[in-house]
Amino acid sequence: MNSTIEKRNVTFDILFNEIANGRVSHAYLIDENNNSDAYKLVIKFIKEILCNNREKKCTNCSICQRIDDNNYPEFRIIEPDGMYIKKQQLVELQQYFSRFAVEGKKRVYLIKDCDMMRPEAANSLLKFLEEPENDIVAILMTNNFNNVLPTIVSRCQYVKFNGEFNLDDNNKNNEYYEMMLSFIYDLAIDKRMVILNKKNYFGNNDILKNRDLLLNLMDLLIGIFYDILKIKNNINSNSLIINDKLLKISDIFENNRILNDINYLILLKDSIKFNVNVALFFDDLILNI
Ligand SMILES: [Zn+2]
Repeated sequence: MNSTIEKRNVTFDILFNEIANGRVSHAYLIDENNNSDAYKLVIKFIKEILCNNREKKCTNCSICQRIDDNNYPEFRIIEPDGMYIKKQQLVELQQYFSRFAVEGKKRVYLIKDCDMMRPEAANSLLKFLEEPENDIVAILMTNNFNNVLPTIVSRCQYVKFNGEFNLDDNNKNNEYYEMMLSFIYDLAIDKRMVILNKKNYFGNNDILKNRDLLLNLMDLLIGIFYDILKIKNNINSNSLIINDKLLKISDIFENNRILNDINYLILLKDSIKFNVNVALFFDDLILNI
């Protein structure tokens, strides 16, 4: 059992690093992506946040054991009551957390199947997410990412299991790979110049008209950002090829920035599937990453 938990997951490796360095986001959205080990890894992640013996990679002190037993006051789990998560469950959660707060002590709530939520419940959750208290961490899990409300997604750090965004050799030989890598490199070096010269990057009308190509470019961008993360955090993977541009970018960008950019690109890619004003699309892209 343990060996599956230890299976490498780049995004989680980085999250663990961030927590070890005292940087915890106030909300995470975990995309299980049909990974049967997702829950176990999430519980391990929660222990990392709440346990007092973090530097020892503890999983079995009294706090960790109570987390396992769902019997730790600073940890609450919400899951669908019948078909859906109900508004009342979220109201009770907020009341529970508002009743006590111990200075400097983190509290975590985990919402399983957060896609199974009626609008009233989602609104309640949104309010909670919009007014985060420093010591409260929200962890939302879903196996149906496409059913999660975009307003919820946008308030969370997105974490996907078994990233499907590993660039393979085909991607790297793709004629657009160099173009996308240069785009990110130039953004890292001098974003203002990129804004002034945006036609050099995306001025080609063929790109603007071709939705499949746009989706492909998004995959390349996301894959490149994952490679930057791996290089920055010394995470090896077979498909990783290191070059000067990637090294330089990984020097300039902080982990949080890279994770946020990946998050943003995934949402942007999703929006292409529906309908998109391409002119605005590129302005958005350049301004937001
Ligand atoms: Zn522990």
